[in-house]
Amino acid sequence: MSSDYQLDTELIKENIQKVKEDIQKYSPYPEKVKLVVVTKYFDYNGVERVLEAGHNIVGENKGQVIRDKESYFNEKFQNFPDEKKDIQWHFIGNLQKNKIKYIVKFVDLIHSINRLSVAQELDKKAQEIGRVIDILLEINIAGEESKEGYKLEELMLEIPEYLKLKNLKVIGLMTMAQNTENEEVLKNTFSKLRETKEILNERYFNNSLTELSMGMSGDYKVALAEGATIIRVGTKIFEKEN
Ligand SMILES: *Cc1c(COP(=O)(O)O)cnc(C)c1O
Repeated sequence: MSSDYQLDTELIKENIQKVKEDIQKYSPYPEKVKLVVVTKYFDYNGVERVLEAGHNIVGENKGQVIRDKESYFNEKFQNFPDEKKDIQWHFIGNLQKNKIKYIVKFVDLIHSINRLSVAQELDKKAQEIGRVIDILLEINIAGEESKEGYKLEELMLEIPEYLKLKNLKVIGLMTMAQNTENEEVLKNTFSKLRETKEILNERYFNNSLTELSMGMSGDYKVALAEGATIIRVGTKIFEKEN
């Protein structure tokens, strides 16, 4: 993170409060919206301060890192079950097959499934331990080469295969928008993800897709207005306002 940030519980608390106010202000259905605080910029101290600030949904983008943090808190709280914060661990990074083993046991939601072969491997590993894992399918709506995620046409072809995976439950879609402040462009991207969810619900999922993970520090207000149900916010939570 480039600018001025601090791991300060009070600051984090204030910033979370501001984002929650924005959820009320911009979302058509604020009661449905979850805030994932992205703690990937820090070691376990980041998660610790977020918990202290009263929030328990965190997002990470690296397999080993999320595993290490989870086991740190698992250990920390095991003798103090009353204090247990019931942390929800969200995985938001590009998942590689050889990293599945690090997250399969505890991850609450994987936002970023963008390859069938990875999903199939995840399904197998989840089956081995008797879990059903919630996932989102990541779509590259912006169409930028540098971005991860399915092209819409590719995803459409593979959906029937996803429906066969018994230990994964597809509950929605995720996207990352263009790195721009142009609201029209952002709005277009987010509304297209929403429309895609509606199409998939009609054709394949019988309305069981409920989640739209879209919006980060720079664009979550636009995403909320377009119907985001999950926003993933990092920088803004830890930054001092200038
Ligand atoms: C880092 C990251 C975020 C958070 O970005 P900020 O700009 O710090 O809010 C959200 N989503 C994904 C997939 C990320 O990798």
